[in-house]
Amino acid sequence: MDLGIAGKWALVCGASKGLGFGCAQALVREGVNVVIGARGPEALQAAAERLLADPLRPAGAQVLAVAGDVTTEAGRAALFAVPGGPGVNFDIVVTNAGGPPPGDFRDWDREAWIKALDANMLTPIELIKATIDGMAERGFGRIVNITSSSVKSPIDILGLSNGARSGLTGFVAGVARSSIAAKGVTLNNLLPGKFDTDRIATTLAAASKKTGQSVEAIRASQQAQIPAGRYGRPDEFGAICAFLCSTHAAYLTGQNILPDGGAYPGTY
Ligand code: NAD
Repeated sequence: MDLGIAGKWALVCGASKGLGFGCAQALVREGVNVVIGARGPEALQAAAERLLADPLRPAGAQVLAVAGDVTTEAGRAALFAVPGGPGVNFDIVVTNAGGPPPGDFRDWDREAWIKALDANMLTPIELIKATIDGMAERGFGRIVNITSSSVKSPIDILGLSNGARSGLTGFVAGVARSSIAAKGVTLNNLLPGKFDTDRIATTLAAASKKTGQSVEAIRASQQAQIPAGRYGRPDEFGAICAFLCSTHAAYLTGQNILPDGGAYPGTY
């Protein structure tokens, strides 16, 4: 299926690895020009080189890399100022940043909460604010926020994530249904279940410390509880993201899409 977005410009945050990289890869394979961001310049450069060397990348699809912390104003400004990039005139924005650390809510002070809110609620809101009106003026826009299955089904040790991302989810539900909806702009959240990335290695290590079980044992028991019998792959996640960004998904907005191998037990 031709997704109809070749030649568009996408901003993909947190794209040096994991789910962000999966999204960037799927978009580049559709001929989309991407600006990728992440904190570590070396890993980000390596990711850009991987994308450029991808045999499935159509000739002409550009990849620009900007290292910086997207949760800061300076980090976001750098993404919009990259030479050769579209400024704030992105057609597609995939918001993403690292998830907050696991732990016990009794140990989190105001600073820990502000940090989680900054990364997983206020940063996506700032990115939306900077780009959405231009998208509406041009008559096309796709915004996908990478959030978490914890929005639908909270995870006890990820209270910071449960809380901060729920705030973003409520905000997005309103904006998606505002006047931008009639102007070709869609706004959706992608809620990863368990995907095999470095992030899951961190949460597995924390769970192992808490329970005394080995990482391997927890990994096996988690996978056994997922109806699909396995963790998801970043490329599978990226393909769903690319579809949400496609011209075919123009009538799909304000939704919380849950790729989780069937793990969420509810009917709705
Ligand atoms: P990951 O650790 O593999 O990759 C995170 C990426 O974001 C990296 O490129 C990192 O450099 C970048 N990043 C982190 N903080 C940043 C910042 N402040 N500024 C710029 N870049 C930053 O993580 P992942 O598994 O790809 O997860 C992506 C998001 O999805 C996270 O918020 C995570 O909590 C969430 N999530 C992941 C899973 C999963 O199973 N992997 C499940 C639920 C939610």
